[in-house]
Amino acid sequence: MATHRPIEPPAVLGILGGGQLGRMLGGAARAMGYRIVVLDPEIECPAAAVADRVIPSAYDDVGGALRLADACDIVTYELEHVAAAVVGAIEPLVPVRPGLGPLLVTQDRLAERRFVEGVGVAVAPWREVRSVPDARSAAADLGLPLRLKLPIGGYDGRGQLRITAVEQLDDAWERLGREPDCPLLAERELDFEAELSIIVARAIDGSTAAYPPSRNTHDEGILVESVAPAPIGDGVADGARGIGLRLAEAMDLVGTLTAELFLLRDGSLAVNELAPRVHNSGHWTIEGAATSQFEQHVRAICGLPLGSTAALAPTAVVNVLGSGPARGARILGAEAALADPAVHLHLYDKRRVFERRKMGHVTALGRDVEEALGSARRARAALTWADAEVPAEV
Ligand code: ADP
Ligand code: MG
Repeated sequence: MATHRPIEPPAVLGILGGGQLGRMLGGAARAMGYRIVVLDPEIECPAAAVADRVIPSAYDDVGGALRLADACDIVTYELEHVAAAVVGAIEPLVPVRPGLGPLLVTQDRLAERRFVEGVGVAVAPWREVRSVPDARSAAADLGLPLRLKLPIGGYDGRGQLRITAVEQLDDAWERLGREPDCPLLAERELDFEAELSIIVARAIDGSTAAYPPSRNTHDEGILVESVAPAPIGDGVADGARGIGLRLAEAMDLVGTLTAELFLLRDGSLAVNELAPRVHNSGHWTIEGAATSQFEQHVRAICGLPLGSTAALAPTAVVNVLGSGPARGARILGAEAALADPAVHLHLYDKRRVFERRKMGHVTALGRDVEEALGSARRARAALTWADAEVPAEV
């Protein structure tokens, strides 16, 4: 077996993407003594605060990617919408982990479904459709309601339609902003008991670790709440772990992998979506687990041993989304939110707030997940966004 020398601090870690995931990943790496370079189109991106340097560049600009490679000892990504050409350009120069393979499998929902089914894991019944007649026959086969999803680029519920009547298929391509022959994923809407997610880590020597699954609640496609460990039976939790580990191994992934799962009414599990990275549903691990998902990802990609994934306490996370018109962001109510000593506040320092933008999250630990969720919801309710642009106090 090949031996890999670990990439130890103070090596330079490059992150493709400078959003909140890059910010928390960079923060964890920095705490371990790594230096951080972030590539993002926006110089004032959330991860800029934890970066030694930001390379302002688009996610499909190979020139920017080469500058990143030049500055780093190891590169990772915090979003899967990075162009394959960018990762392909970096890989011969500097290790990119999890690498091109997991990126290609997870950035295209059609490729993802083929992959998941190929390793014997269930997904919702689906078809690739390229025209309205195609979609009508898929609807006849699969039944309504149907989800029609863009294969590439959708997130937080964007880039998909919920189809409840076949006539809604007639202008579906137009409503998704696509040319008539663009392939789409048509998928049966599942009547699930709960949404879960499982985060696993795989080290360079093939050793693995799985966190307890979380139970997630979405509102119009956007994650709003997670609790962990999910209040589910041991059999379901073991099944979720097994799925995460099987997928990570089949991808030969090094790093963390998140699988969003549907727990169906018969107790079985189906995969909804994969992300070869840290994930919003794993934010509970910052305070609620022995090793955060961010530190774990850094340990895995740098060739270091994995940390313990044990939960320290029942934990809940409530996302802080934006509301109202687009404007300069100024949060109000932090003091009230933190009045409960079980609560922790995370803000991503995004300069602008708009309706439903992910701006931060609150985490609470409790005796059980319901108590933790109550605390996190109360803290979230204390937070609001100032109406007008309030000048920052110096
Ligand atoms: P995104 O990339 O926006 O997260 P998802 O495919 O995960 O896209 O869809 C977002 C949410 O929409 C899911 O978390 C789930 O709540 C709902 N959803 C998506 N597909 C289905 C489906 N086939 N059946 C039931 N609910 C679905
Ligand atoms: Mg999703």
